[in-house]
Amino acid sequence: MEHEDILHRCFRCGYCKLPGNYVDINCPAYLSFRFETYSPGGRMWLLRAWLDEKIPASKRFAEIMFSCATCGNCVEHCAFPEFRDRLLLAFTAGKEALLDAGQAPPAVRDYLTKVQLHGNPYGKSVKKSSQWMDGLEAEPFSDQEYLFFADDVGTYDPRGQEVARSVATLLKQAGISFGVITEALNSDGNDVKAIGETPLFEELAAKNIKILNQFNVKKIITLSPHSFNALKNDYPALGAQYQVFHYTQVLAFAMGNINFSSDNEDVTVAYHDPCYLGRHNTDYESARMMLRSVPGITLVEMDRNRKNALCCGGGGGNFFTDILSGGDGSSARVRVREAVEAGAQILAAACPMCAVMLEDAVKAENLDSKIQVQEVSEIVNQRL
Ligand code: SF4
Ligand code: SF4
Repeated sequence: MEHEDILHRCFRCGYCKLPGNYVDINCPAYLSFRFETYSPGGRMWLLRAWLDEKIPASKRFAEIMFSCATCGNCVEHCAFPEFRDRLLLAFTAGKEALLDAGQAPPAVRDYLTKVQLHGNPYGKSVKKSSQWMDGLEAEPFSDQEYLFFADDVGTYDPRGQEVARSVATLLKQAGISFGVITEALNSDGNDVKAIGETPLFEELAAKNIKILNQFNVKKIITLSPHSFNALKNDYPALGAQYQVFHYTQVLAFAMGNINFSSDNEDVTVAYHDPCYLGRHNTDYESARMMLRSVPGITLVEMDRNRKNALCCGGGGGNFFTDILSGGDGSSARVRVREAVEAGAQILAAACPMCAVMLEDAVKAENLDSKIQVQEVSEIVNQRL
């Protein structure tokens, strides 16, 4: 297994499951299950034991490995700079080895089968790929400056479609020149790669690159931080040469073009850093810049923010496989409690997956009367 040389070097100090203040639990898998084996150090030792044939590849072992939300907290906070950058790579290699051994949990197998068969995990026909644009009057991509890439969540998930329409509407309001490709693009593959199915990721990416190149795309605005991460960091190794931006990175500098209503109510907003925009790509400011420029919004910070943010639990395919589950200790539920404690009336997400995860958590916590989850573009659109 790739990166197995680092597994024995972990001495289980446990810093990797904490944020910078060492007070809270910041590994979503450990937070949900509270067994050391679910922590980053624990999974290092489990993998070592499996490779040494001291434990079998049981159902439980596979569930532990695939429960990692790839949030990157362990990479940020592991005590050992010599190998911490390789922690997630080792976990991904472990999942890849389990997939090769036919030991993936059923939910993971179902997710990958749907992506393999349909190019997206919703099992939706490509004929439905332009449905999200209903009523939007988006222009087909030709010679505009940017392509807007909605990915599978924005294209097929009902809530994701709302967010995609909201972002596209705001791009128009800000005068950004963009078009959309109505031909079937596949999933970006970010979570397929994170789950350990690298060959399928490469297949998805190669098909997308072929279509993007046919359209002579040069600059891309993504809806999701997951797409942003894949297209920006992983596609270049497969021959892609695009400038890639998350939508907040473009709009943060175009907010001056937007006219706001003069009678907006004052509201307190806490921003939830999405892992694939924040820790994975160190952009903690674009969405905050957008929110700060909206009249009437007071931005407050949760205790855990920026590189110490608590993940919503949707990464690493968990949004689709739900291996982490939504129990009382789930990170999304802990996160919405934290937002209420910070005095926020609105919890702002800059990712359609985070929005869905946190909205479900607000319902599960019966906090609807205290806090609302909204996507950043929706917060802005409502105040035009
Ligand atoms: S901080 Fe690093 S060395 Fe310590 S338990 Fe976590 S992975 Fe192991
Ligand atoms: S990436 Fe996040 S969920 Fe996965 S082991 Fe590290 S801290 Fe836990």
